[in-house]
Amino acid sequence: MQRPFPGLSELMLSKLFRRNAHAPPVDRSTWESCLAQMPFLEELDGQTLERLIHLAEDFVRRKSFSGAQGFAVTDRVKASIALQACLPVLAIGLNAYDDFVEIIVYPDRFLTPRTQIDEAGIVHESVEALSGEAMQGGPVVLAWPDADPAMGAPGLSVVIHEFVHKLDMLDGLADGVPPMPMSKRALWQTALHAAYDQFCLMLEAVEAEIPPDVDPESEAADPYYARLPLDAYAATDEAEFFAVSAEAFFTLPGAISQTFPDLARVFSDYFGYRRAGDQDRSALAVPRVPR
Ligand SMILES: [Zn+2]
Repeated sequence: MQRPFPGLSELMLSKLFRRNAHAPPVDRSTWESCLAQMPFLEELDGQTLERLIHLAEDFVRRKSFSGAQGFAVTDRVKASIALQACLPVLAIGLNAYDDFVEIIVYPDRFLTPRTQIDEAGIVHESVEALSGEAMQGGPVVLAWPDADPAMGAPGLSVVIHEFVHKLDMLDGLADGVPPMPMSKRALWQTALHAAYDQFCLMLEAVEAEIPPDVDPESEAADPYYARLPLDAYAATDEAEFFAVSAEAFFTLPGAISQTFPDLARVFSDYFGYRRAGDQDRSALAVPRVPR
């Protein structure tokens, strides 16, 4: 068994997994192996890690997991999803996810029909391969290869992404502004708008640097997009910017605070999650997959 976080003593680990009155639905060794696959959790203090594990245990009890297309939902799948899904609710609690119970896990990216109307009013029907989808009042759908932390790239977590969309939609609007006290809302909106505008300008600058003979949709363009502090998909709209920047906030220390310090401050306050230390983001992969 791989030991999570070598810095944690056996005594500390025992404490983390001890408090539940009845046997947890997932055994300790499974939780430990999942934690070991999420090195970005290593810098959490013991108290926060303890809260995360207890929220995740509760999450597994309260949610219903279904495997689509014959996918077998193991305890490792449940624990991995639960740990990532509970990061955004460390401060606000699991009740924020009370509007749904089902999590559907596909063995691979799943196809969803899309209808888009362009500026000329023409309707375009298409089929997209998604790594995740969150529906208002409905289930969260995930593709396991993208949700599996063992396969994750720094700065990316489709699980965090979809569950942040869930928080965003709690007030009925996916607009990048989740419900919060009015006293904090203006500060959030100012920080989000400014960071989004800044990111769109950064993306424009990068796109201007791509030579005309390089297809921007091809892998040859990836080194250009890798200069960005976030996946280029964040420029889609402010709801996607919130979800993508939250992925980086939790999984790549420093990625947000270095480029968007005001956004990092309102995120820290809302998520109740702080961590010391920064990390270079140059290793970020940039898969432009709709989600
Ligand atoms: Zn999204």
